[in-house]
Order: sequence, then structure tokens, then C-alpha cells
Amino acid sequence: MASPLRHGDDGLRPATRAVALGRPQPVPGAPVNPPVHLTSTYVADGEVNYARVSNPTWEALEEVLGSLESGTALTFASGMAAVAAVVGQVPVGGVVVRPRHVYNGTTGLLAERAAAGALTVRTVEAEDTEGIVRACEGADLLLLESPSNPMMELTDVVGVVRRLRERLGERRPVVACDNTFATPVAQQPLRWGADLVVHSATKYLAGHSDTLLGAVVVSPDRPDLLERVRTYRTLHGAIPGPMEAWLVLRGVRTLHVRLERASATAELLVDRLEGHPAVERVRYPGFGAMVSIEVAGGADEAEAVCSAVRVWSHSTSLGGVESQIERRRRHPLEVDTVPENLLRLSVGVEDPEDLWEDLAQALDQR
Ligand SMILES: *Cc1c(COP(=O)(O)O)cnc(C)c1O
Repeated sequence: MASPLRHGDDGLRPATRAVALGRPQPVPGAPVNPPVHLTSTYVADGEVNYARVSNPTWEALEEVLGSLESGTALTFASGMAAVAAVVGQVPVGGVVVRPRHVYNGTTGLLAERAAAGALTVRTVEAEDTEGIVRACEGADLLLLESPSNPMMELTDVVGVVRRLRERLGERRPVVACDNTFATPVAQQPLRWGADLVVHSATKYLAGHSDTLLGAVVVSPDRPDLLERVRTYRTLHGAIPGPMEAWLVLRGVRTLHVRLERASATAELLVDRLEGHPAVERVRYPGFGAMVSIEVAGGADEAEAVCSAVRVWSHSTSLGGVESQIERRRRHPLEVDTVPENLLRLSVGVEDPEDLWEDLAQALDQR
């Protein structure tokens, strides 16, 4: 995409780059938005000859995402396609280290690959830096997620990367961070020394619960990994549709304002939930718009809250403009150390008082 701005060399702040990048050249009469390039092939002798390799609408989105994460972005059909492309870099018989609580699709994919004999999985605790570093001895991939889904634990990514370099040097594993919950607004793991960032752009980046899309963002220090992940995408074929890429690009334009509003509301709700007699525990990492609560009682009481809300949407997923609530253990893949009475809340952009009143009446009814 030939944008008037290029990331890295313009000194502009992230919220500005989210709006300004990924646009056509501003020549007289040009459209201000990139078109949706619906084509499967290109005229011969150009840079790209077939649309499984690249598409200008993906490139517009990749320019923005790469700039926000301080790396080079490659988009995929879904967040899981992006996770699979990262896991796909592990050699047969290799070792993957992951925290106990990560997105349950990631847990499921690693279990499926392990059952097929493709790799071995080592499980660590997200907040135990030394434990993570010890488990990385002889490992090929460390797949982090911070805050963790749905327990909201934080990993000291800076500390882990520093200790891995000290202890293992060149033999350290590839470090990948799933940045879906935090978004690049809150943290950019590549700046902390991670090699790869993974996104389910389905969530905050798209922001409207209407699209599935994923991304891998590669550190500028790892051109080798960039080429491998790109080749993986072309050959495995889990590419995004141009319309989906366009929708996510439109979503990213408002990422900063959506998150600012949703985070402020989340903080207000956390304050009030902490004093509520029907809530045993509130898990909030201190930033962002994801909150988990443990409802007094058990699974039935927690489900009753989900049935009683009217403004909140009782549905899985997160990061949309509409607030969502869900008991995570209703999913068979969720690990059993996640409490039965845990509800995950994705705070949206509605009026905060309507969200509070609706949640409070649902908690009172349980
Ligand atoms: C949803 C999610 C995924 C998977 O993304 P899809 O777009 O649904 O395939 C991966 N990681 C995290 C943290 C998620 O929340």
C-alpha cells in the first residue's frame, strides 16, 4: 500500500498512525480509503502473481498493524490460523512451553498436535518467571498470553526475555505473545524483546463482532521468521478475505477511542463489583476492558446471572462495542483450574450506568 505516511519514519503517535496509515496516495481525485480488491490473480510479470500470496487490501491493514506493534504484520483467516502458523514453525518432535491458562483454542491446538506426535507441551505458571525460564531449556517455542484468558494473570515478558538471553543465549526458544487481550494500545511485546506477536483481530482490532481475522507480527530482528511465516501462510492457505481485511482496517481506525471508553467503564465497574456481596472475587489486570468475576455460589448461580442480563450480551468472544458476559467453564476445552463460577466480562462502549444497573440487577437475581 503506497500510503502518504510510512511507519517508523514519521514520529507520529499511535492513535494518529491508526487513522492515517493504510490509505492510498493523496493525489487529486484519489479515494481516501483503499478499495476491497476482489481478485484471485494478477497480470503476469508484477511483484505478486496470485492472490493467495498477497492482496493490496491485506497490505493496507498489515501496514497499520505492523506500525502499531512495531514489526511486520501478516494477516490470516482467523486468530487460530495465526496461532497455527506460529505453532507450525516448531520442528517435528519439538517442545512448546505455554502457561496453564491461555485461550482454550490454543490449548486445544497444542493438545491435538501433541496427540498426533508432532510436539511436546510443557505447562508453566504465567507469573513464575524463573519457572518459565527453566522450562525453556531445550524448547523451540514459548507461547505467552498476558493478561491470560480468562484468569487475568500477568507475565513479566521483559524479565522472561532478559533471563532467557542470559541463561540460554542463542539456544533460547522463539518467544511469541498473544496480544489479543491487551492490544497494541496497552503493550507492544516486540519492543520487550519478543520475536512474534499473535492477534485474534476478531476481537478488539475489528471491534464490532462481525468478522474473523488473525495476524502474526514479526520483530524487525527476525527476517528469517518473517519469511518462514509468510511461506507457511501461502502454502497452508489460511488467508483472510479482502472484505474481512477491509472491515478490520475500518475497526482499527477507532481502536484507541473504543478502548479508552471501554477501559474507563471497566475501571468503574471493577470498583463497584469489588464491594458487591454476590461477587467473591474480581480479577482485573489494572488496564484494559476485560474483567473476570467469581460469583458467590457455583456454576448455577453464575449461569443465572448470564440469563438475567438484558443490556449485556450473553455470548462468547470479546472486544466488540457491545458488552459481553460468559461463564468460561461451559466450554469443554477450558482447563479445570478455571473456577466453575467465573464469568468473563468484555466491557463495551455503552453508557456505563446502564451496564452497571443491568449487571447489578442480574447479580441480585442469582
Ligand atoms: C479468540 C482468541 C483467539 C482465536 O481467535 P479467532 O479469531 O477466534 O480464531 C486466540 N487468542 C485469544 C487470546 C483469543 O481471545
